Amino acid sequence: MADLQRRIALVTGASQGIGRACAVELARAGCTVVLAARNEAKLAEVAAEISAAGGEAAAFALDVASEVSIKAGAKQILDRFGKIEILINNAGITRDGLMMRMKRVDWDDVVSTNLTGTFLLTQALLPAMLKNRWGRIINISSVVGRTGQAGQVNYASSKAGLIGLTRSLAREVASRNVTVNAVAPGYIETPMTAGLDAKQREVMMVQIPLGRPGTDLEVAQSVAFLACDAAAYITGHVLDVNGGMFMGG
Ligand code: NDP
Repeated sequence: MADLQRRIALVTGASQGIGRACAVELARAGCTVVLAARNEAKLAEVAAEISAAGGEAAAFALDVASEVSIKAGAKQILDRFGKIEILINNAGITRDGLMMRMKRVDWDDVVSTNLTGTFLLTQALLPAMLKNRWGRIINISSVVGRTGQAGQVNYASSKAGLIGLTRSLAREVASRNVTVNAVAPGYIETPMTAGLDAKQREVMMVQIPLGRPGTDLEVAQSVAFLACDAAAYITGHVLDVNGGMFMGG
């Protein structure tokens, strides 16, 4: 397990799924974890779960699709903790539909949540990381950002955009000892994928050499690795956690 004693981490979309698992894993590794999402009741449950296991967590209601909410939330968080050392940009949504039928609002919602939210929150928290000369930024992309996916031009664009953001920012901040990486999960069993029907599942499964979906814990462990000292020389990397679904360069 990664050792991250006393580091202060922030996970967006920590109320369920992969974000919850990342928060639990980082807390187990010794971080104080700031949990952010819209659903305060669910955040409180995750915070209680972490506390019950002996970890430290604090919950903040934050809507990454709103610049006002991001600015207010970042200020509250910095007022309380002084800095965020590990930032996990995980919050994400889908609004699927074929290109010819996709509504502008479905494009805007997905891009503002998945990509612009990451840009704005990172911008708000980066100064303290640069000043501290230590930081880890980990963006949750997707296999779909690597391969494309019919019915997901909005989602795939946002996830491919995160890879461009990751690599560009990695170059900008490397001299301050801040690393920026992405994790690109494949098909992971979470509330997001719970709505897939049997046919969609079957189509996914035949594309996975390891022959099973991934778990939120498997993604969280990769995230924790990228946050720890053992990954200090890795930056601008996209780590595929996809059972072999896409074997990219
Ligand atoms: P879930 O739908 O289970 O969870 C999404 C999380 O994002 C929730 O905690 C939700 O919290 C939060 N969220 C959504 N919109 C906002 C918002 N506007 N502001 C703040 N938080 C928000 O999804 P997963 O756990 O499956 O996915 C997590 C990430 O992993 C996403 O970025 C997703 O695209 C990515 N991913 C998932 C894969 C999978 O197979 N599951 C595969 C590849 C990538 P709340 O509603 O409380 O705000």
